[in-house]
Amino acid sequence: MNKGLLSVDEALAQLLAGARPVTDIEELPTLEATGRILARAQRSTMDVPPMDNSAMDGYAVSTSDLERNASLRVSQKIMAGSVGKPLEPGTAARIFTGAPIPPGADAVVMQEHVTAHGEEVVIQKPPKAGDWVRYVGSDVKNGGEILAAGKRLAPQDTGLAASVGIKTLPVFRKVRLGLFFTGDELVMPGEPLPPGRIYNSNRFTLRGLAQVFGCETRDYGIVPDSLEATREVLRRAAAECDLIVTSGGVSVGDADYVKPAVEAEGRLLMWKISMKPGRPLAFGTVRDAFFIGLPGNPVSSFVTFLIFVRPFLLRVQGLKDVQPKAIAARADFDWPEPDARREFLRVKWNAQGGLDLYPTQDSAVLTSTSWADGLVDNPAQQAIRKGDTVRFLPYSELYT
Ligand code: AMP
Ligand code: MG
Repeated sequence: MNKGLLSVDEALAQLLAGARPVTDIEELPTLEATGRILARAQRSTMDVPPMDNSAMDGYAVSTSDLERNASLRVSQKIMAGSVGKPLEPGTAARIFTGAPIPPGADAVVMQEHVTAHGEEVVIQKPPKAGDWVRYVGSDVKNGGEILAAGKRLAPQDTGLAASVGIKTLPVFRKVRLGLFFTGDELVMPGEPLPPGRIYNSNRFTLRGLAQVFGCETRDYGIVPDSLEATREVLRRAAAECDLIVTSGGVSVGDADYVKPAVEAEGRLLMWKISMKPGRPLAFGTVRDAFFIGLPGNPVSSFVTFLIFVRPFLLRVQGLKDVQPKAIAARADFDWPEPDARREFLRVKWNAQGGLDLYPTQDSAVLTSTSWADGLVDNPAQQAIRKGDTVRFLPYSELYT
């Protein structure tokens, strides 16, 4: 590793060591809780299903009757939502999916295995006891834990909560994320682009990421390259946010005011990180807010957000497991001149199930990130040859 540079893992460990999870809890209607982090484990106060019921449209029977008699009279009809009478011995009950099994029956014969003759049914394939019966509590047991604390609620989790009658769920409040963008060269789309200026693409990338991670975003827009302007917006953001993320101005050029501004308003650690793209990253605090300053290059700010801000944000949101799951994948490209720093290469799945490399890995070429399906996490100084197995971080993993 390069002298004087911090490794990605060291930087991440320091970041995560400083993360302080949000503790405010709000009770949300279960219908609105998808995407939020569950603050307390949930237990069921009922069995699911609440009664033995039929898994099929068919006929409920007693298997002891069938040993003697394969032709049965249909003595009742039980629809889902209703409750039948005890099964008359020697008869069958017409039954539909989800309807309660009547007392005395112990199996359901699916209707495809029956021929009906008026009031009589002939069972062509005798069932075993328990066939097509969903037993009480076979999904969820009364008192059992259904959802662990600290879980991001997926749609199916809210469905599971609802299946045991839970109407509201305690979730951590959303993380308030403040964003601002430094650079006198920046112009918003919709405005004409004077010579020498560029559009503020990072605003769109970072706002989008904030949305993907379910933040409550405060966007302070473009901040001029001046110490006073940067200090002023930092003060405002610190009063309103849990975490402030910025783009640009963290190098040590003449127009880089983020460092002195954070130092004046709070505390700052400046890191040169052994990664490409990336390198400069600022981490600190301003009053009660955390601060992470990302580099201005569009690819660098995108990648450093995914590698550093993402896990930090997840911790602040209340998640414990914040490491993205990598996939071992086949490189269908050569990378003969690796960098002395750990590299995050923009790659894309090909039809053969391997990974192709975007031809330009320059940190200013945003097209590479849009073309890609994710990043290859390549160790420092490691050449890649066609056919090698590489560590692939798909966007699908980095976006969860
Ligand atoms: P900086 O980190 O401020 O030195 O910026 C590094 C490079 O990223 C420069 O070429 C900037 O013009 C560019 N850059 C900075 N901020 C943005 C932004 N918000 N959107 C697009 N490019 C940017
Ligand atoms: Mg700048």
